[in-house]
Amino acid sequence: MARAGVDCLLLSVGSDLPYLIGYEAMPLERLTMLVVTKDDAVLVVPELEAPRVEPGPFAIHAWGETEDAVLAVAALAGRPTVAAIGDTTWSTFLLGLLPVMADTTFIPASLIMRELRMRKDAQEIEALQAAAHAADRVLARIPSEVRFEGRTERQVARAVTDMTIEEGHETSLFWIVASGPNAASPHHEPGERVIEAGDAVVIDFGGKKDGYCSDVTRTFVVGEPSDELRKVHAIVEEAQRVGRLAATVGAPAQEVDRAARSVIDAAGFGEFFIHRLGHGIGRDGHEHPYLVEGNDQALEAGMAFSVEPGIYLPGRFGVRIEDICVLTEAGLLTLNQADRALISVE
Ligand code: ZN
Ligand code: ZN
Ligand code: ZN
Repeated sequence: MARAGVDCLLLSVGSDLPYLIGYEAMPLERLTMLVVTKDDAVLVVPELEAPRVEPGPFAIHAWGETEDAVLAVAALAGRPTVAAIGDTTWSTFLLGLLPVMADTTFIPASLIMRELRMRKDAQEIEALQAAAHAADRVLARIPSEVRFEGRTERQVARAVTDMTIEEGHETSLFWIVASGPNAASPHHEPGERVIEAGDAVVIDFGGKKDGYCSDVTRTFVVGEPSDELRKVHAIVEEAQRVGRLAATVGAPAQEVDRAARSVIDAAGFGEFFIHRLGHGIGRDGHEHPYLVEGNDQALEAGMAFSVEPGIYLPGRFGVRIEDICVLTEAGLLTLNQADRALISVE
Protein backbone atom coordinates (compact mmCIF):
# COMPACT_ATOMS: atom_id res chain seq x y z
CA MET A 1 0.00 0.00 0.00
CA ALA A 2 2.80 2.40 0.91
CA ARG A 3 4.58 1.70 -2.38
CA ALA A 4 1.39 2.38 -4.29
CA GLY A 5 0.65 5.58 -2.33
CA VAL A 6 -2.49 4.08 -0.82
CA ASP A 7 -3.53 5.11 2.70
CA CYS A 8 -6.53 2.87 3.08
CA LEU A 9 -7.69 -0.41 1.56
CA LEU A 10 -11.42 -1.22 1.51
CA LEU A 11 -12.46 -4.76 0.55
CA SER A 12 -15.99 -6.10 0.29
CA VAL A 13 -17.56 -8.95 -1.73
CA GLY A 14 -15.35 -10.98 -4.07
CA SER A 15 -12.14 -12.96 -3.78
CA ASP A 16 -9.75 -10.37 -2.29
CA LEU A 17 -11.30 -10.70 1.16
CA PRO A 18 -11.07 -14.51 1.44
CA TYR A 19 -7.57 -14.29 -0.04
CA LEU A 20 -6.46 -12.03 2.83
CA ILE A 21 -8.51 -13.19 5.81
CA GLY A 22 -10.26 -16.42 4.81
CA TYR A 23 -13.73 -14.87 5.07
CA GLU A 24 -16.07 -14.54 2.12
CA ALA A 25 -18.62 -11.74 2.40
CA MET A 26 -22.21 -12.52 1.49
CA PRO A 27 -23.28 -10.51 -1.55
CA LEU A 28 -25.99 -8.67 0.34
CA GLU A 29 -27.50 -5.23 0.75
CA ARG A 30 -25.89 -5.35 4.19
CA LEU A 31 -22.32 -4.09 3.92
CA THR A 32 -19.29 -6.20 4.79
CA MET A 33 -16.00 -4.32 4.43
CA LEU A 34 -12.45 -4.85 5.63
CA VAL A 35 -10.86 -1.48 6.39
CA VAL A 36 -7.05 -1.62 6.31
CA THR A 37 -5.06 1.48 7.26
CA LYS A 38 -1.38 1.84 8.11
CA ASP A 39 -2.10 1.09 11.77
CA ASP A 40 -5.16 -1.08 11.79
CA ALA A 41 -7.34 -3.67 10.13
CA VAL A 42 -11.02 -3.82 11.05
CA LEU A 43 -13.71 -6.01 9.52
CA VAL A 44 -17.03 -4.20 9.43
CA VAL A 45 -19.57 -6.99 9.26
CA PRO A 46 -23.33 -7.32 9.86
CA GLU A 47 -23.95 -8.52 13.41
CA LEU A 48 -25.84 -11.59 12.16
CA GLU A 49 -22.88 -12.63 9.95
CA ALA A 50 -20.23 -12.07 12.64
CA PRO A 51 -20.45 -15.59 14.12
CA ARG A 52 -19.12 -17.00 10.81
CA VAL A 53 -15.91 -14.95 10.94
CA GLU A 54 -12.81 -16.89 12.01
CA PRO A 55 -10.69 -14.66 14.24
CA GLY A 56 -7.52 -13.33 12.64
CA PRO A 57 -5.11 -10.40 12.81
CA PHE A 58 -7.92 -7.88 12.52
CA ALA A 59 -10.56 -6.38 14.78
CA ILE A 60 -14.28 -6.95 14.22
CA HIS A 61 -16.86 -4.20 14.13
CA ALA A 62 -20.21 -5.98 14.12
CA TRP A 63 -22.89 -3.51 13.15
CA GLY A 64 -26.52 -3.77 14.27
CA GLU A 65 -29.50 -3.58 11.93
CA THR A 66 -30.17 0.13 12.59
CA GLU A 67 -26.57 1.34 12.39
CA ASP A 68 -25.23 3.08 9.24
CA ALA A 69 -22.41 0.77 8.13
CA VAL A 70 -21.15 3.21 5.48
CA LEU A 71 -20.56 5.86 8.17
CA ALA A 72 -18.80 3.24 10.30
CA VAL A 73 -16.44 2.46 7.42
CA ALA A 74 -15.77 6.17 6.78
CA ALA A 75 -14.96 6.74 10.46
CA LEU A 76 -12.53 3.80 10.54
CA ALA A 77 -10.90 4.90 7.28
CA GLY A 78 -10.01 8.29 8.82
CA ARG A 79 -9.28 10.91 6.20
CA PRO A 80 -7.23 9.02 3.58
CA THR A 81 -5.86 10.94 0.61
CA VAL A 82 -6.07 7.79 -1.51
CA ALA A 83 -8.27 4.79 -0.79
CA ALA A 84 -8.16 1.57 -2.82
CA ILE A 85 -11.60 -0.05 -2.99
CA GLY A 86 -12.32 -3.64 -4.05
CA ASP A 87 -13.20 -3.85 -7.76
CA THR A 88 -16.32 -5.91 -7.13
CA THR A 89 -17.68 -3.76 -4.29
CA TRP A 90 -21.30 -2.87 -5.00
CA SER A 91 -21.53 0.62 -6.49
CA THR A 92 -24.25 1.52 -4.01
CA PHE A 93 -21.70 1.36 -1.17
CA LEU A 94 -19.11 3.41 -3.05
CA LEU A 95 -21.85 5.94 -3.86
CA GLY A 96 -22.54 6.13 -0.12
CA LEU A 97 -18.86 6.64 0.70
CA LEU A 98 -18.15 9.32 -1.92
CA PRO A 99 -19.99 12.24 -0.20
CA VAL A 100 -18.74 11.36 3.31
CA MET A 101 -15.15 10.90 2.07
CA ALA A 102 -15.26 13.86 -0.31
CA ASP A 103 -11.52 14.62 -0.05
CA THR A 104 -10.47 11.04 -0.84
CA THR A 105 -9.41 9.79 -4.26
CA PHE A 106 -10.62 6.24 -4.88
CA ILE A 107 -8.65 3.77 -7.00
CA PRO A 108 -9.37 0.10 -7.78
CA ALA A 109 -7.92 -2.29 -5.19
CA SER A 110 -6.85 -4.67 -7.95
CA LEU A 111 -3.85 -2.37 -8.49
CA ILE A 112 -2.55 -3.68 -5.16
CA MET A 113 -4.29 -7.02 -4.79
CA ARG A 114 -3.31 -8.42 -8.17
CA GLU A 115 0.36 -8.05 -7.25
CA LEU A 116 -0.31 -10.49 -4.42
CA ARG A 117 -2.84 -12.78 -6.05
CA MET A 118 -1.04 -13.16 -9.38
CA ARG A 119 1.88 -14.99 -7.76
CA LYS A 120 0.63 -18.25 -6.31
CA ASP A 121 2.40 -19.87 -3.35
CA ALA A 122 2.96 -23.62 -3.04
CA GLN A 123 -0.34 -24.18 -1.24
CA GLU A 124 -2.31 -22.34 -3.92
CA ILE A 125 -0.58 -24.27 -6.70
CA GLU A 126 -1.47 -27.49 -4.91
CA ALA A 127 -5.11 -26.39 -4.73
CA LEU A 128 -5.14 -25.51 -8.45
CA GLN A 129 -3.55 -28.88 -9.22
CA ALA A 130 -6.20 -30.72 -7.21
CA ALA A 131 -8.98 -28.81 -9.00
CA ALA A 132 -7.41 -29.53 -12.42
CA HIS A 133 -7.11 -33.24 -11.61
CA ALA A 134 -10.78 -33.32 -10.62
CA ALA A 135 -11.68 -31.72 -13.98
CA ASP A 136 -9.46 -34.23 -15.80
CA ARG A 137 -11.31 -37.10 -14.12
CA VAL A 138 -14.57 -35.69 -15.49
CA LEU A 139 -13.08 -35.55 -19.01
CA ALA A 140 -11.89 -39.14 -18.70
CA ARG A 141 -15.42 -40.31 -17.87
CA ILE A 142 -17.21 -38.46 -20.67
CA PRO A 143 -16.61 -40.83 -23.64
CA SER A 144 -17.82 -43.93 -21.80
CA GLU A 145 -20.54 -42.40 -19.63
CA VAL A 146 -22.14 -39.62 -21.62
CA ARG A 147 -24.40 -40.31 -24.58
CA PHE A 148 -24.31 -37.42 -27.11
CA GLU A 149 -26.24 -38.37 -30.25
CA GLY A 150 -29.96 -37.66 -29.91
CA ARG A 151 -29.61 -35.76 -26.64
CA THR A 152 -29.79 -32.02 -26.09
CA GLU A 153 -26.85 -29.83 -25.14
CA ARG A 154 -28.65 -29.12 -21.90
CA GLN A 155 -28.83 -32.82 -21.03
CA VAL A 156 -25.12 -33.30 -21.71
CA ALA A 157 -24.33 -30.15 -19.71
CA ARG A 158 -26.31 -31.55 -16.78
CA ALA A 159 -24.26 -34.78 -16.88
CA VAL A 160 -20.98 -32.80 -16.96
CA THR A 161 -22.13 -30.62 -14.06
CA ASP A 162 -23.05 -33.66 -11.95
CA MET A 163 -19.65 -35.24 -12.62
CA THR A 164 -17.91 -31.95 -11.76
CA ILE A 165 -19.34 -32.29 -8.24
CA GLU A 166 -18.88 -36.09 -8.05
CA GLU A 167 -15.17 -35.70 -8.79
CA GLY A 168 -14.57 -33.42 -5.82
CA HIS A 169 -15.49 -29.82 -6.63
CA GLU A 170 -17.66 -28.12 -4.03
CA THR A 171 -19.37 -26.04 -6.70
CA SER A 172 -19.79 -26.17 -10.44
CA LEU A 173 -19.14 -22.70 -11.89
CA PHE A 174 -19.97 -23.04 -15.61
CA TRP A 175 -20.80 -25.73 -18.19
CA ILE A 176 -20.47 -24.84 -21.85
CA VAL A 177 -21.67 -27.58 -24.21
CA ALA A 178 -21.64 -26.17 -27.75
CA SER A 179 -22.56 -28.54 -30.57
CA GLY A 180 -22.49 -28.27 -34.35
CA PRO A 181 -22.84 -24.63 -35.50
CA ASN A 182 -23.27 -23.54 -31.85
CA ALA A 183 -19.61 -24.44 -31.27
CA ALA A 184 -18.69 -21.36 -33.30
CA SER A 185 -19.86 -19.27 -30.31
CA PRO A 186 -17.11 -19.50 -27.64
CA HIS A 187 -19.39 -18.88 -24.62
CA HIS A 188 -22.49 -20.63 -26.00
CA GLU A 189 -25.20 -21.28 -23.41
CA PRO A 190 -26.24 -24.96 -23.71
CA GLY A 191 -29.78 -25.20 -25.01
CA GLU A 192 -32.32 -27.46 -26.65
CA ARG A 193 -30.33 -28.28 -29.79
CA VAL A 194 -30.29 -32.05 -30.34
CA ILE A 195 -26.77 -33.32 -30.97
CA GLU A 196 -26.28 -35.15 -34.28
CA ALA A 197 -23.75 -37.59 -35.73
CA GLY A 198 -20.73 -35.75 -37.13
CA ASP A 199 -21.11 -32.76 -34.77
CA ALA A 200 -18.09 -31.19 -33.15
CA VAL A 201 -18.93 -30.56 -29.49
CA VAL A 202 -16.88 -28.11 -27.46
CA ILE A 203 -17.13 -28.78 -23.74
CA ASP A 204 -15.67 -26.12 -21.43
CA PHE A 205 -16.42 -26.43 -17.75
CA GLY A 206 -15.04 -25.71 -14.32
CA GLY A 207 -15.76 -25.66 -10.64
CA LYS A 208 -14.29 -24.60 -7.33
CA LYS A 209 -12.41 -26.95 -5.05
CA ASP A 210 -11.10 -25.65 -1.71
CA GLY A 211 -11.55 -22.10 -2.95
CA TYR A 212 -9.60 -22.54 -6.22
CA CYS A 213 -10.99 -22.87 -9.73
CA SER A 214 -10.70 -25.44 -12.48
CA ASP A 215 -11.34 -24.58 -16.13
CA VAL A 216 -10.72 -26.99 -18.99
CA THR A 217 -11.89 -27.41 -22.58
CA ARG A 218 -11.82 -30.34 -24.96
CA THR A 219 -13.46 -30.80 -28.34
CA PHE A 220 -15.32 -34.03 -29.01
CA VAL A 221 -16.80 -35.41 -32.21
CA VAL A 222 -19.90 -37.57 -32.46
CA GLY A 223 -18.81 -40.54 -34.53
CA GLU A 224 -16.38 -39.86 -37.36
CA PRO A 225 -14.94 -36.35 -37.89
CA SER A 226 -14.94 -34.71 -41.32
CA ASP A 227 -11.53 -34.09 -42.88
CA GLU A 228 -12.00 -30.38 -42.25
CA LEU A 229 -12.77 -30.83 -38.56
CA ARG A 230 -9.76 -33.12 -38.23
CA LYS A 231 -7.57 -30.47 -39.90
CA VAL A 232 -8.85 -27.53 -37.82
CA HIS A 233 -8.49 -29.54 -34.63
CA ALA A 234 -4.88 -30.36 -35.47
CA ILE A 235 -4.13 -26.65 -36.00
CA VAL A 236 -5.66 -25.71 -32.63
CA GLU A 237 -3.81 -28.54 -30.90
CA GLU A 238 -0.52 -27.32 -32.40
CA ALA A 239 -1.27 -23.69 -31.45
CA GLN A 240 -2.01 -24.80 -27.89
CA ARG A 241 1.27 -26.74 -27.72
CA VAL A 242 3.27 -23.82 -29.16
CA GLY A 243 1.57 -21.42 -26.72
CA ARG A 244 2.58 -23.55 -23.77
CA LEU A 245 6.16 -23.76 -25.07
CA ALA A 246 6.30 -19.95 -25.30
CA ALA A 247 5.20 -19.48 -21.69
CA THR A 248 8.57 -19.13 -19.98
CA VAL A 249 9.78 -17.07 -17.01
CA GLY A 250 10.39 -13.53 -18.26
CA ALA A 251 8.32 -13.83 -21.44
CA PRO A 252 5.86 -10.94 -21.86
CA ALA A 253 2.27 -12.20 -21.64
CA GLN A 254 1.46 -10.90 -25.13
CA GLU A 255 4.32 -12.92 -26.66
CA VAL A 256 2.65 -16.13 -25.54
CA ASP A 257 -0.58 -15.04 -27.22
CA ARG A 258 1.39 -14.13 -30.36
CA ALA A 259 3.20 -17.48 -30.46
CA ALA A 260 -0.01 -19.50 -30.42
CA ARG A 261 -1.78 -17.07 -32.75
CA SER A 262 1.01 -17.30 -35.33
CA VAL A 263 0.26 -21.01 -35.82
CA ILE A 264 -3.40 -20.27 -36.53
CA ASP A 265 -2.50 -17.26 -38.72
CA ALA A 266 -0.06 -19.32 -40.77
CA ALA A 267 -2.75 -21.94 -41.38
CA GLY A 268 -5.04 -19.21 -42.73
CA PHE A 269 -7.56 -19.18 -39.86
CA GLY A 270 -6.34 -16.04 -38.05
CA GLU A 271 -9.62 -14.14 -38.40
CA PHE A 272 -11.48 -17.02 -36.72
CA PHE A 273 -9.46 -16.95 -33.45
CA ILE A 274 -11.57 -14.22 -31.89
CA HIS A 275 -10.39 -14.09 -28.27
CA ARG A 276 -7.21 -13.73 -26.23
CA LEU A 277 -5.10 -16.84 -25.63
CA GLY A 278 -5.67 -17.07 -21.90
CA HIS A 279 -6.45 -15.64 -18.48
CA GLY A 280 -4.99 -15.99 -15.02
CA ILE A 281 -6.82 -18.27 -12.62
CA GLY A 282 -6.94 -18.75 -8.88
CA ARG A 283 -9.77 -17.91 -6.51
CA ASP A 284 -11.45 -16.29 -9.51
CA GLY A 285 -11.98 -18.08 -12.79
CA HIS A 286 -10.60 -15.08 -14.66
CA GLU A 287 -7.90 -12.93 -13.04
CA HIS A 288 -4.50 -11.44 -13.83
CA PRO A 289 -2.32 -12.05 -15.78
CA TYR A 290 -4.17 -12.00 -19.11
CA LEU A 291 -2.36 -13.49 -22.12
CA VAL A 292 -3.45 -10.87 -24.58
CA GLU A 293 -1.96 -8.47 -27.15
CA GLY A 294 -1.09 -5.25 -25.32
CA ASN A 295 -0.09 -6.88 -22.03
CA ASP A 296 3.70 -6.72 -21.72
CA GLN A 297 3.71 -7.99 -18.11
CA ALA A 298 6.67 -10.38 -17.81
CA LEU A 299 5.56 -13.81 -16.67
CA GLU A 300 6.99 -15.00 -13.36
CA ALA A 301 7.26 -18.26 -11.48
CA GLY A 302 4.05 -18.82 -9.54
CA MET A 303 1.75 -17.37 -12.17
CA ALA A 304 -1.17 -19.60 -13.16
CA PHE A 305 -3.14 -19.15 -16.38
CA SER A 306 -5.12 -20.88 -19.09
CA VAL A 307 -3.80 -21.56 -22.59
CA GLU A 308 -6.89 -21.86 -24.78
CA PRO A 309 -6.69 -21.15 -28.49
CA GLY A 310 -9.77 -21.76 -30.64
CA ILE A 311 -11.02 -21.53 -34.20
CA TYR A 312 -14.68 -20.58 -34.70
CA LEU A 313 -16.26 -20.91 -38.15
CA PRO A 314 -19.62 -19.08 -38.03
CA GLY A 315 -22.61 -21.23 -38.96
CA ARG A 316 -20.45 -24.33 -39.17
CA PHE A 317 -18.39 -25.51 -36.18
CA GLY A 318 -15.77 -24.55 -33.64
CA VAL A 319 -12.78 -26.08 -31.86
CA ARG A 320 -11.09 -25.05 -28.59
CA ILE A 321 -8.52 -26.76 -26.39
CA GLU A 322 -7.75 -25.37 -22.93
CA ASP A 323 -5.40 -26.33 -20.12
CA ILE A 324 -4.52 -24.60 -16.89
CA CYS A 325 -0.77 -24.12 -16.46
CA VAL A 326 1.54 -22.85 -13.72
CA LEU A 327 4.89 -21.31 -14.42
CA THR A 328 7.72 -22.55 -12.19
CA GLU A 329 11.44 -21.82 -12.10
CA ALA A 330 11.89 -25.23 -13.73
CA GLY A 331 9.50 -24.43 -16.57
CA LEU A 332 5.82 -24.66 -17.34
CA LEU A 333 3.73 -27.16 -15.43
CA THR A 334 0.58 -28.13 -17.36
CA LEU A 335 -1.93 -29.04 -14.66
CA ASN A 336 -4.49 -30.64 -17.01
CA GLN A 337 -3.20 -33.81 -18.57
CA ALA A 338 -6.39 -35.17 -20.15
CA ASP A 339 -5.94 -36.33 -23.75
CA ARG A 340 -6.01 -33.31 -26.10
CA ALA A 341 -6.85 -35.31 -29.22
CA LEU A 342 -10.19 -34.98 -31.01
CA ILE A 343 -12.14 -37.50 -28.98
CA SER A 344 -14.82 -39.57 -30.67
CA VAL A 345 -18.01 -40.12 -28.67
CA GLU A 346 -21.36 -41.79 -29.37
ZN1 ZN B 1 -14.12 -18.48 -21.68
ZN1 ZN C 1 -12.76 -22.55 -20.09
ZN1 ZN D 1 -10.67 -20.34 -19.52
